[in-house]
Amino acid sequence: MIRAYKFLLRPTVGQQQALTEMLRDHCSLYNGALQERRDAWRHVSGTTVRYGEQSAQLKEIRAFDPECQGRWSFSSQQATLRRLDRAFAAFFRRVTSGGKPGYPRFRGVNRFDTVDFPRDGDGCRWDSTPHGPVTRVRFQGVGHVRVHRYRPVVGRVKTISVKREGKRWYVVLTAEQARPGPLPATGSVVGIDMGIASFLADSDGGFVPSPRHGRKAAAKLEAAQQALSRCKRGSKRRRKAVETVARLHRKVRRQRLDHAHKTTLDLVREHDFIAHEDLRIRNMVKAPAPKPDPDRPGAFLPNGAAAKAGLNRSISDAGWGVFLTILHAKAESAGREVIAVDPRNTSRTCPACGHVAAENRPTQDTFHCTGCGHQAHADTVGAVNVLRAGLARRNARPG
Ligand SMILES: [Zn+2]
Repeated sequence: MIRAYKFLLRPTVGQQQALTEMLRDHCSLYNGALQERRDAWRHVSGTTVRYGEQSAQLKEIRAFDPECQGRWSFSSQQATLRRLDRAFAAFFRRVTSGGKPGYPRFRGVNRFDTVDFPRDGDGCRWDSTPHGPVTRVRFQGVGHVRVHRYRPVVGRVKTISVKREGKRWYVVLTAEQARPGPLPATGSVVGIDMGIASFLADSDGGFVPSPRHGRKAAAKLEAAQQALSRCKRGSKRRRKAVETVARLHRKVRRQRLDHAHKTTLDLVREHDFIAHEDLRIRNMVKAPAPKPDPDRPGAFLPNGAAAKAGLNRSISDAGWGVFLTILHAKAESAGREVIAVDPRNTSRTCPACGHVAAENRPTQDTFHCTGCGHQAHADTVGAVNVLRAGLARRNARPG
């Protein structure tokens, strides 16, 4: 299983200069090789120059130009020539298929933004200072560049690329990960109840708190969206505001993913069987409850409370959607069973005596059975009922 990572680089001024020169020289190599192929193509003999021939000239080119081409990794230069080769292969494919061919074009130095290193350790080294306090990546001719590594890289690094996007530099890695095999059985089953105050409650009485950053990010995103709606169309300010919204969205998405990966991993490790509420049914039946007005008994708050709850809801719903997708994928590769159950009545049914009543839940957090007096946290009760419904469904299945 190959996984890709992309991290921001924090080069020094000198390293930025070197990276820029590295791009420039790879670009000129690309254009030079393209020129050679064009000339050969136009020549009366109509010969074709191939990758092998161009790659064989590299040694000479490097020796001839030690100040520029000679500085960089041989392998990254080969990768650049191979990129050109792929462009030509695609061109010839279009010619034979009768499509609009579009001859490969020269690249302006600003349009050439990536240098590839096909193998870690060959002209580049990921985590080149493993005992230092920060992660660095070394590129031949550039040095050890600081990496903003916001999450660990799992598996063995295969390829490394350096990429310029606007004023920023990124390193893109691919890493080979062992496909996880089935986990040993634990004999444990669990039900989960997805909430807002807690991200989820489980049937053993445990809670996973909502991602701490979630609410803060939501508030920032809301403010950014409002700022965006006030900007004039086509203005520079608007473009900036669009960027801000996109950046915050990316951040929320990343945090949500990290949280989901961690939470699902714990569940799948500990339990053979996991039951959860069916999110689609849940969204149909559990509309946000109207808030009672504390000053006027029997009346409800007319203000933005419901709308606010709606926004928070939609954000946490998106979080659960991601969470469940990852849970199902992880469970499958680990050989665990996951079942979605109808969530209706799971919050009002007493797990001790089976009494079903809305009054069993006097407040959002508490469950107090009017039949037998059983007391527990309402979300734990929900999770116990989800587990029961899941086990009942599993046992009812033929086979
Ligand atoms: Zn009861």
